[in-house]
Amino acid sequence: MSKATNAADKQPAAPKRGNRPGEAAPVLGFTAAGFRRKLGRWYREHARELPWRGVDDPYATWLSEIMLQQTRVATVIGRYREFLLRFPTIHDLAAADEADVLALWSGLGYYGRARMLLRGAQFVECEMQGKLPRTAVELRTLPGVGEYTAAAIASIAFGESAAVLDGNVERVLLRLLGEAEEKSARARARLVATAQMLTPPASRGRAAKGNPPGDHNQAMMELGATLCLPRSPLCLQCPVMDLCRTRGEHATVARARMQSRTVSHLLALRKRGVATEVLLERRPRDAALMAGMLELPALPLDATEGREPALRLRHAITNTNYYVQIFTERVILEGQMAEPALEQSLLEKIPAAKADLRWTPTTKLVQLPLTGLARKTLQRLKVMAVPPFKIGSER
Ligand code: SF4
Repeated sequence: MSKATNAADKQPAAPKRGNRPGEAAPVLGFTAAGFRRKLGRWYREHARELPWRGVDDPYATWLSEIMLQQTRVATVIGRYREFLLRFPTIHDLAAADEADVLALWSGLGYYGRARMLLRGAQFVECEMQGKLPRTAVELRTLPGVGEYTAAAIASIAFGESAAVLDGNVERVLLRLLGEAEEKSARARARLVATAQMLTPPASRGRAAKGNPPGDHNQAMMELGATLCLPRSPLCLQCPVMDLCRTRGEHATVARARMQSRTVSHLLALRKRGVATEVLLERRPRDAALMAGMLELPALPLDATEGREPALRLRHAITNTNYYVQIFTERVILEGQMAEPALEQSLLEKIPAAKADLRWTPTTKLVQLPLTGLARKTLQRLKVMAVPPFKIGSER
């Protein structure tokens, strides 16, 4: 039993609840208005300041929601700002080269999202006079916009009463209602109906009285991200603890186990006049992950036997932890590269086809669609500058 649960035992008993036959959503045992009041008060006082909150620009909301899909808030903050600086409007994005968009997406992962966003902007520009559709149903017609994202954009940007149901909100609702996690269409439909029951009626955009559906949805997500945490919920700080049936005691389905893989890459640098160039490999166009992106050339593990890597790091992608070793012939010292000549042997062991390799000036790296791992490595080894953005907290 968690600490929070022990303390919660001293609180008044949770309300009784039962299901009415034929109803999609369970009976709450409390009023939606009462729940919203408590949640809303807490959100106004405790919401984290995030760059996409309070922004009256549907395009910016769309961008932030796409970036936040399966990506941590801390990772998104800097990218979001950079992206908006480079492409401040849908019009600018629609006219962009895919390579430029992918370059700005570097480090966020799931690069298909960037391509879909670009296609979506082109569609909106050509077919909708550059204006995003205002309803969740219409937003679903955009590439890369699913049920959750459409509801988030419609409620936050346009005040539609469309409930969001991501992993965080789902966890909050299951705990509130004391229901077991169940992976079925019927169980999801019940949760969608519950979330919708709690969502305030539509507002007319960002009027003087605010945006009740958009603020409520963000408050639900915020509660799941900051208090109703997967492992140890902070129930004593929770604004709806007196309405919650479980207060931290809730069985969840075990997560898929992480896999581990060891991989090696080569950081090869050369001087060309005053420029320093780095060797990059383009991933296959049909790769399942990060298709067409640029990375440091991969090396077979046996090619590096007996050598000490210049850098070891861990990099997680979906449910795989990559233990990465970076080999280089140059010594990197406090931002300066010493001069010993490249040793050819490791270069010759790169299995990639010559056509997929290219020497690139390090000054151009920031404009290229690098994989997150390549970017991280090049920044750690001071071959590439780190952007000057502060990192925030988790979504
Ligand atoms: S909803 Fe609140 S009280 Fe209930 S488990 Fe989550 S954090 Fe605890």
